[in-house]
Amino acid sequence: MYKNKIGWRFDNTYLNLSQSMFSKINPTPVKTPKLVLFNHYLSKEIDLDFSQIDNEELALIFSGNQLPDGSQSIAQAYAGHQFGHFTILGDGRALMIGEHVDKNNNRYDIQFKGSGKTPYSRNADGRAALGPMLREYIISESMHHLGIPTTRSLAVIETGENVIRESILKGAILTRVASSHIRVGTFQYALISKNKNDLQTLFNYTLQRHYPDLKKSETSVVDLLKIVLKKQVNLICDWMRIGFIHGVMNTDNMTISGETIDYGPCAFMDKYDPETVFSSIDNQGRYSYFNQPRIAKWNLERFAECLLPLINDDNKIAIEIATEVLKEFPNIYKENWLRMMKQKLGLLGDEPKDEKLIIELLSWMHQNKADYTNTFCYLMGEYEKRDEMYNEKQFKLWKKKWENRTKLNNSSKEDSFKIMKKFNPLVIPRNHLVEESLKYATEMNDLSKVNELLKILQRPYERVADTSIYQSTPFPEKNYVTYCGT
Ligand code: AMP
Ligand code: MG
Repeated sequence: MYKNKIGWRFDNTYLNLSQSMFSKINPTPVKTPKLVLFNHYLSKEIDLDFSQIDNEELALIFSGNQLPDGSQSIAQAYAGHQFGHFTILGDGRALMIGEHVDKNNNRYDIQFKGSGKTPYSRNADGRAALGPMLREYIISESMHHLGIPTTRSLAVIETGENVIRESILKGAILTRVASSHIRVGTFQYALISKNKNDLQTLFNYTLQRHYPDLKKSETSVVDLLKIVLKKQVNLICDWMRIGFIHGVMNTDNMTISGETIDYGPCAFMDKYDPETVFSSIDNQGRYSYFNQPRIAKWNLERFAECLLPLINDDNKIAIEIATEVLKEFPNIYKENWLRMMKQKLGLLGDEPKDEKLIIELLSWMHQNKADYTNTFCYLMGEYEKRDEMYNEKQFKLWKKKWENRTKLNNSSKEDSFKIMKKFNPLVIPRNHLVEESLKYATEMNDLSKVNELLKILQRPYERVADTSIYQSTPFPEKNYVTYCGT
């Protein structure tokens, strides 16, 4: 293991997988790297000490111009179903510079995104633009502070080079920190290598890295499927809780660790509409808010297909076993979703009409285009704007029913509000505010709005300051559109 004054402890175990699973390649140096954002909180959390390092040196390190000793950079191979179609992919514009192990022996992939071409770049440039990298930084850090499993963001560097998209944009590199980058698509890649050894090695590696307790189990393959299913159910329920729409739930963008990954065309829903999509290419609504659990199940079926050869030599028996596990998805999801919605409404215990009460609220929100986040804030007395909408007769009737239901809680009103406040954020990275902050950063070199937003998003469940701006909805209302591969 490599050690130095910053505290890097590299231990690059991914290189022990089959050679076909990655390519050794260094970042392409950039012209004039400049530090834009650095996450000191995160660096401390993972036991890295940059206090003696000035901004110029930080820019050199996190642009890849000066790789730390002990790093061994690789691009990972993977495949994936993109909008339902199978494709061979791989890190086309990203490199893992190594696995850093903190003092508590937590292992993190340190990855550069936008670091130049790799053998998996196909015809693209291997680069990334400043706006989308700042956006990933803001949204991934916000997700973390919302308590949702996610990859993190350590730094953003401007490269001093242009990238050509629909217009000429400033180039940038994001440093992403993840508990690993093992995706459903990584297993799909190992499966098509037709070498059962590659698959077995990846499976053993995954167990060792994420679920070591399963190593002793005689049914470890099925156990892995079950645990990944549970992790994904929890993750999707968390997304549904805060109105997050991932936007591109391809199998290469679903991790085995259960962390949210690849912040491309994702966004937060303002007004409640289950069919909301933000991605410019999602014409069919495949990845809409409402479809997220269904797609998670579809992706888990693709994962299960990869595990079949390890479940049983007889494919028919293996399919039967995997089907038994996957069959449970709807029940497990429904149970978790119901629990989560009841937490949002501060409902304790189980009453037969709870689900109906929840559906009635969601239907009212849909019909009246009510803001998803603010409606729950209103119910817990944390939305100060006098919105005429909440004086509407049907809503008042529903509210009366809800108040009567909370009386069956067998607990005080304060307890009920306490629960609500734990599960309903006051602030989310609202699209119009994220866009405004990115405009200042990319067009005027002014990071003040990005930094203000990052600060308020650190404590999303508390009224730490006047949050009214951050609870404001876009006016005039406009359809928000996001893009892939930016
Ligand atoms: P994503 O939409 O970010 O999940 O990316 C899908 C695939 O396209 C991955 O294999 C990426 O590495 C690749 N990709 C996206 N943008 C670029 C780019 N500018 N250069 C090379 N590969 C890219
Ligand atoms: Mg991806």
